[in-house]
Formats: sequence, structure tokens, C-alpha cells
Amino acid sequence: MKIFQMPDSLANKIAAGEVVERPASVVKELVENCIDANSTWIKVEVAEAGLDRIKITDDGDGMTEEDCALAFSRHATSKIRNEDDLFHVRTLGFRGEALASIAAVSKLTIKTSTGEEAGTEMQFEGGILKQKSKSEARKGTEITIDQLFYNTPARLKYMKTIHTELGHITDVMNRMALSHPDIRFEVTHNDRTLFRSPGRDDILQVIAQVYGVSIAKKMIKVEHETLDFRISGYIAKPEITRASRNYMSTIINGRYIRSIPLSKAILKGYHTLLPIGRNPLVILKIDMDPILVDVNVHPAKLEVRFSKEKELFEAVEQTIQQAFRKQSLIPDVPQPKKRREEEASEQGMLDLYQSPVGRSEPTASFGQSTINHQEDVEKDKFEDTQQSVAEKMLQADYEELSTSGQEQPSVELSFQQPEKEAPKSRVPVMYPIGQHHGTYILAQNEQGLYLIDQHAAQERIKYEFFKEKIGEVANEVQELLIPITFDFSRQEALLIEQHQVELQRVGLFFESFGEQSYIIRSHPQWFPKGFEEETIREIVDQVMEEGKVDLYKLREDAAILMSCKRSIKANHHLNYNDMFQLLEDLRASTDPFTCPHGRPIIIHFSSYELEKMFKRVM
Ligand code: ADP
Ligand code: MG
Repeated sequence: MKIFQMPDSLANKIAAGEVVERPASVVKELVENCIDANSTWIKVEVAEAGLDRIKITDDGDGMTEEDCALAFSRHATSKIRNEDDLFHVRTLGFRGEALASIAAVSKLTIKTSTGEEAGTEMQFEGGILKQKSKSEARKGTEITIDQLFYNTPARLKYMKTIHTELGHITDVMNRMALSHPDIRFEVTHNDRTLFRSPGRDDILQVIAQVYGVSIAKKMIKVEHETLDFRISGYIAKPEITRASRNYMSTIINGRYIRSIPLSKAILKGYHTLLPIGRNPLVILKIDMDPILVDVNVHPAKLEVRFSKEKELFEAVEQTIQQAFRKQSLIPDVPQPKKRREEEASEQGMLDLYQSPVGRSEPTASFGQSTINHQEDVEKDKFEDTQQSVAEKMLQADYEELSTSGQEQPSVELSFQQPEKEAPKSRVPVMYPIGQHHGTYILAQNEQGLYLIDQHAAQERIKYEFFKEKIGEVANEVQELLIPITFDFSRQEALLIEQHQVELQRVGLFFESFGEQSYIIRSHPQWFPKGFEEETIREIVDQVMEEGKVDLYKLREDAAILMSCKRSIKANHHLNYNDMFQLLEDLRASTDPFTCPHGRPIIIHFSSYELEKMFKRVM
């Protein structure tokens, strides 16, 4: 065996494998260079998804002839000089390998000028300088990549369809534009314009370009500052959700980054406002001292490491929570979508007019006047109007919660919890008109017509009630009449042994019973009745997955379970008082817009929208 020193051209080709995975990564590296060079305008022209040609033009600082020659040697950078600089990186690039790597796997032409003297033009093939001449003195740089991967056929084989590669490029450019709203971007494919951003330093305008105007209209501006972080941006109302997590964009010091824990913090901020498994659309710009973030942990610099992780995640969560506390989140009936409109009028509106109750004077008859008739009808069907259905169910559930019997519940049964000062409701008073299929409450006020999902509404009310109550119950233990036996896998059993102390701290005593079996004889009192086994399972799962028990989350899940369990289901007739009380309780809740599973509770038809539907106004 004999050891050789690799020639530069080979080393660069190998390095290119890391940095230049596909056309989109070339675009990313080159555009980042333009941004670092203080450009205010960047044009990206690609042909055949970049496999034929990528041309990138900017109006940035440009380079002198000497710098330009240097820029193509490996590890040549103007951005950092020593180790200390590495911890204070403010530029997007800093490793000095992109230009050398890209040149190594393509035919590259660069024209660049600082604007002060004639410019420089250089042509490379496979990283080797083939030609050098003077060029025009326009300030800025223009780099053209022809036949990317022409000399690395193995790499070329991995390219997917034009469609896929173009998708990646669009993705990169969307992110660049969102991260740098002050820069004007233009992107063309085969001479057709794909994307333009106005460059007026207004993220919302870029959001409108990237996601569409209708989404931009549903974004809420957020701003939050802590000692270490400045957070700003836009978050979508919870009615806009996506299956993919890719719509949560986080921009740290101008760099678009991917971070699962940051996405989790965003989701936590939305809390129960989103349906399970759905993700929000968020653009958060987070600025901090560069010393707090290590950007040198990922080949494409897509991931970073934070030194004040916990504080950052908390700040992000708070940013979002605070924004929602200030908002009314009732989705309006969408106007332009014809289909939804038809659905609404077919299912909801027609019934309203067929029903004996719905006297058709929604704007004039504000208040109680339309309702008395309804009440009479419903009284016959319902014997007990003294105590609302909702209240009785709640009472039963509360009694279950404290079955130990020692202290009888002296709980105020009005859900409005008068002991606390009532916060201003984010929902206006709504007066019931009637019920649709025993499922939706129709209500009105001067702002129009409302459809309320009664089951979802009660789930929300009960969830908030239980969440508070569960939080108050101390960690007292309830003996089980029949102990529960658990059989675990070997690995699970090992983890149980390891985490005994923590499990005992939350009130679970796993008694060993054979090698992989355990007995539980008692459990904490806050466990939801009838769900003891599930709850224990969940605690075990948490220990397996996270190595610790999150009591807060457990209690919250228990609250969701209990709220769901006995809420009034669909097809259940309510009288006027029941409906009115339910709506009032809903108004008194902290988050009256979605049920704990994130489904909407209220839909609003404004009087204006109704008039439009009936073509009374145009
Ligand atoms: P890095 O960005 O990590 O410094 P690159 O290989 O991407 O490394 O670029 C090398 C150097 O070339 C940069 O540090 C910069 O000085 C110069 N450069 C690259 N692109 C441009 C550009 N569009 N305008 C001005 N200078 C540029
Ligand atoms: Mg660079």
C-alpha cells in the first residue's frame, strides 16, 4: 500500500459531494453568496431545472481580479479569519468551499466587478481555469453554471425528474425570499418567470407571493422580545393547517434553518388550537447574539445548535400564545370558494328556513324576541329545565373525579368560575334561534348568524374545567379494587427499573412480579375514571420515549379524555336555556374557538355575507 496526496481537483470533487447535492444546493450556495455581498437585487435563471444552466446575477459588492482568482481555491473565504470569528458568524457562508466545489463539477463562468474599474471574467472547466479576460464594469457579480455534474455521471444518475428538482429550487428560493424580504428576487425557469418578490422589506408581501394572498390575509403578526432573543414574524390563524411540518419556517439571524425542537415549540404555542396531526403555517424570524448559536454543525448549514435552548423554545411558545390571547379566531364563511358556500347554504341555511322556528328577519329581530316560541316547543320534549344538561353531566363527572368521598365537592357549578375575575370574552353574546339536526346551535346577534357545534363547545368548556380541577387535586393515591397486571418487553422492563424513582414520584409503584411483569395496586387520584390502564400505559410510553414523566402533559391528556367522555353528543335536543347557557359558558372559556382536539366550534356568517349570498348587495 502506498499513500498519495490527493490532487486539488479530486479533493474538490469529493467536497462537492457534501455541498452540492443537486441543482437546488448550487442555487442555495450561490444566492447565499450574493446576500453576503450586500446585494439588493438577485436574479436566478435556470434551464431544465438547473441541470442545463444556472445563472445568478446580483448587484452586490463584486470582487477584484485578485480576489476572484482566490475565491475559487478551496477554503478561501473573506468571511472569517480565525477561530474566534467562527463563533461570531454573521454571514451565511464561512467555510470557503462552495465556489471551489461547484466549479469542480461544472463548467463555470464568472463576471464580477466592484464597479470601480473594469471587471473580470473567468471560465473554469472541472475546476480548472481555462480563460481569463476583462469584462464590463457593472457593479456586482454574474455566475453561470453550465452542465452541472457533467464530469460526475454517478451524481447525475441520482437526479430525479425535472419537476422534482425544480420543486427543490423553488423551495430554496421561497425560503431565501422569506428570510430576506429586503432583497428583490427574480426566478425564471426556461425563460418563464416563476417567482418575484418585491424587496420592500415587508414579509407579508413575500408571504403573499409564496403562499398566496388569501393565506397572507389570515396571518397574525407576532412580536416578542426577551433578554436574549428578538422574535418577530407571522403566524397563520389555526383554521389554516397543513399535513407537513415544512410550513413552519424558522429564520435564525437571517439563516433559514430546520429544527425539530423549534417546530415543537411552535406547536406547543398553538396548543389545542390545531387538529391532531395537523401543522400550522408560520414564519418566525429570530435574532440573537451569534455567540448563542453554532452554525457549523451541518454540511449544508441547515441545522444549528443553540446554547440557550430551553429559553429559546419557551420564548417561541410564548410568542405564539400571546398572539392568540389577543385574537378573535372564529372562521368566517369563505366567500370565493363556491363549493363551500353552496354546502353551507344547502345544509345549514335551507333548514333554517324550513324549520318552524326560523322566522326570517335575522337583522331586525335581535335579542330574545324570536326565541320564546322555540322554548315552548322544547319544553314539552324536556322535563327538567331547572338544571341544564351540561351542568348535570359536569356534576356527575366532578363527583367521579373525587370519589374518595372525604371531601365532598363544594364546587360552584356555574362554569364561569365567579371567584376569578372574568376576563373579557373574545366572543360576542350570541342568542340562540334553534338547533339543526340536534347537533348545531343556530344563533344570532347584530354581527350576523352563527353555527355552533354543541358537542365541540361542551368539550371545550369541560376541558377547561377539568384542566383546572385536575391541577388542584393533590397527588393522593387511590387504591385499586383489582390490581392491574402489566406485561412488558424486556427493554421496557429495563427502563421501568431504571426509572422507578421518577415513576414513584408521580404516584406509580410498579411491583415486580416475574421477570417482565409488574403489578400496580394504586394510582394517583386525578386519573380519569375508567381510563386507569390507558393512563398508566401513557406514562410508561413517556418514560420510554423521553426518559422522564411530564406530569403537566399527562394531566392535560386526562382532561381531554374526561371532557370528551360525557359531552352532549350530536342528535341531542336542547331547549333555549340549555343553548343559551352553553353559549355563555363557551364565551367564558379561555379558548372558545376550537375543541381540545383542535376542531372549530363556531362558524360565522356576517350579515353582509348573507346579503351577498342572496344577491341583495353586489
Ligand atoms: P464562503 O461563502 O464560505 O466564504 P464561497 O466559496 O461560497 O465561500 O465563496 C468564497 C468567497 O468568494 C466569498 O467569501 C466571497 O468573498 C466571494 N464571493 C462569492 N460569491 C460572491 C458574490 N456573488 N459577490 C461577491 N463576492 C463573492
Ligand atoms: Mg458561500
